[in-house]
Amino acid sequence: MTVVAPELSPAMLARQAEFPILKQPIRGQRLVYLDNGATTQKPQVVIDAERDFYERSNANIHRGVHWLSQHATDLYDQARVTVQKFLHAARPEEIVFTRGTTEAINMVAYCWGMSNLKQGDEILLTELEHHSNIVPWQFVAQHTGALIKVVPVLDSGELDLTAFQALLSERTRLLAMNHVSNALGTVNPIQAMTRAAQAVGAKVLIDGAQAVAHAVVDVQAIGCDFYVFSAHKLYGPTGMGALYARYDILDGMVPWMGGGDMIQTVSFEGSTYAPVPQRFEAGTPNIAGTIAMAAAIDYVQEVGLEAIAQHEHDLLTYATAALLDIKGLRIIGTGPHKAAIASFMLDDIHPHDLGTILDMDGIAIRAGHHCAMPLMTRLGLPATARASFALYNNTADVDALVAGIYKAKKLFGVG
Ligand code: PLP
Repeated sequence: MTVVAPELSPAMLARQAEFPILKQPIRGQRLVYLDNGATTQKPQVVIDAERDFYERSNANIHRGVHWLSQHATDLYDQARVTVQKFLHAARPEEIVFTRGTTEAINMVAYCWGMSNLKQGDEILLTELEHHSNIVPWQFVAQHTGALIKVVPVLDSGELDLTAFQALLSERTRLLAMNHVSNALGTVNPIQAMTRAAQAVGAKVLIDGAQAVAHAVVDVQAIGCDFYVFSAHKLYGPTGMGALYARYDILDGMVPWMGGGDMIQTVSFEGSTYAPVPQRFEAGTPNIAGTIAMAAAIDYVQEVGLEAIAQHEHDLLTYATAALLDIKGLRIIGTGPHKAAIASFMLDDIHPHDLGTILDMDGIAIRAGHHCAMPLMTRLGLPATARASFALYNNTADVDALVAGIYKAKKLFGVG
């Protein structure tokens, strides 16, 4: 069957030129980068923003009376407003800068979970979660006596919403779940699930690591209490991210790291803390990274998240059809709402072997459990191969992947 390639927007296709790394051959071949779920490549404007900070604006923030320190502080504070507007939070104080999604979830676990949960309370997770939205809650459960309950996943990779409803009760104190599954690409009905969980009095944390680069996120429309993301999956720097927390909740949370910048007064008898969000940002932060993260947000907004979503949807539809056309290939995660991720198995070739063979041709995919071991166990798979898309991918990338898979089939004698 011939799979017809979609007509992608020329404006979007031209964006590839803005990513320097994509011009670099890998193993002497054009780089076909399809590991965007793990991390995205960076456009020149983001690289420049980080370099410019060190070349022109570098100073420590919040502490200096001199011009450079005030300038750096202004840039840092503006970055917070950029994130606030990006997530449509009600006020900038609702944004805490973190090292990424993992740190943001741990912050909620330690600063909210440890002091608000007790024996008999229930933490509701889903079978789709990344380890970073499981392990911190296990710490909380061990420490507080709270119980972890899990919303099961259907064979399609969608959440079992009937089971979800049945698991909700007045004991449910927290629902912590991802917006988009990193392993399968399933887009979860977070708005409806948030409402249902809040109706029984639970707080809701949404892990947006795989969502923010692919669709407009509006935390007020979702209605969640916490939303977290990482900059590096959003064309921004590594080691940066943010926690959104509703102001009244954040203001009631206890700090977990003590040090400079998070205090109001310190004496040996005791200390008082700074208002939020500074209370949760002890020590000198990643100032350059924060500014580069804001540059990445400006960049995706300039490209347009609706345009990105359309481009990636067309690519995913094309890739799914082309992959399904390969004999012996099985797509894992077949729900109707998916974002930018095609997870698959090929005959009985181990995904690691497939990934290694594709790499010989400069094609970067991910093979493994995707930090979602409980999901792999549920699906009865050791691992999957995962191609994940970004705004700079095109149909030639999909064609290269398909050609690489045929080559691997030949090599393994399953052609
Ligand atoms: N949650 C999801 C859904 C992810 O995909 C990832 C990273 O792959 C994380 C959390 C962890 O993100 P980070 O390693 O940037 O903290």
